[in-house]
Amino acid sequence: MRQFSIGVDLGGTNLRAAAYSPETGLRFKRSMQTRLDLGPTVVAENLCSLISEVLLQESSAAALLGICVGAPGPLELPTGRFHAPPNLPGWGGFNLRDAIKLEFDVPVTLENDANLAALAECHLGSGKELGLDELCMITLGTGVGTGIIAEGKIFHGLNGLAGEAGHASVWPDGELCACGNQGCLELYASATGILRRATALAMTGKASGLEKLFADSSEVTTSDLYTLAMGGDRDAESIFAQAGQAIGMSLATLVNILNPSLIAVAGGVSNAWPLLWPSMEKELLSRSFIYRLTQAGSSFQRHVVIRQAMLGDGAGLAGAALLPFINAVHSS
Ligand SMILES: [Zn+2]
Repeated sequence: MRQFSIGVDLGGTNLRAAAYSPETGLRFKRSMQTRLDLGPTVVAENLCSLISEVLLQESSAAALLGICVGAPGPLELPTGRFHAPPNLPGWGGFNLRDAIKLEFDVPVTLENDANLAALAECHLGSGKELGLDELCMITLGTGVGTGIIAEGKIFHGLNGLAGEAGHASVWPDGELCACGNQGCLELYASATGILRRATALAMTGKASGLEKLFADSSEVTTSDLYTLAMGGDRDAESIFAQAGQAIGMSLATLVNILNPSLIAVAGGVSNAWPLLWPSMEKELLSRSFIYRLTQAGSSFQRHVVIRQAMLGDGAGLAGAALLPFINAVHSS
């Protein structure tokens, strides 16, 4: 009998669900608004209704292998307990997995969304293209997430909290981060951080292009900033150059520690790649002797690849749908 899984993405804005099987790919996508204002119990009920809707679409001749929900952390694994996640206020201690298990009698897994995006990128994106079963992925979105895939599986660490490169300092005396540290990568390379720095520069009165951008729109995005920079605005360009420098410093450390086959850079901010890469590469070359040694053209047979991820916004959902199949392979 054909088996299928259901993947769910619990985001701060939207709930998304879809069915997946290797034969059909991802299908029957459904989504609805995440009503965080109504609390975790109601959101869990909505999530179960969405899963039921997807189930109704699948053939009755196929068997449900499992359900996986991707959610923002900190998430203790494998128990699936939330620990005061900043993007899901009021969810501390809530056990979403138990709430879903009450409704559906199949294995239910909760997983960090950045880990799932990395899993999908490994099995369905650039990892697949390069024939690899390992990668590091750094997602530059509202925050900065990191996932590590080794031997085809998510690397979790002791508590399920491995891969928080976004909260490693790139400037030891830099700005204070909500995590309690100073100068975290996330402050310089997330969309939030980039827009905050651009706003601050616009307010100095010395960056007329940025000043006009913020005066003309109340909802400036990193994509607007990118367009301004590509049009030759030096101040907008400098914001991306600084983000690239911060990312390059972080990646240099990752390369030195892990000697990874591939680091995929994902998330909306990664679309500014042409402006980020020059300063990223400069930092990588100056700070990581492993990166220098293993450059293409060196005497090493294999080279560390750093590139923009292939999968876009749907990577987290695809990874959630994929996980029950990965778990089945590794438990058999
Ligand atoms: Zn931090």
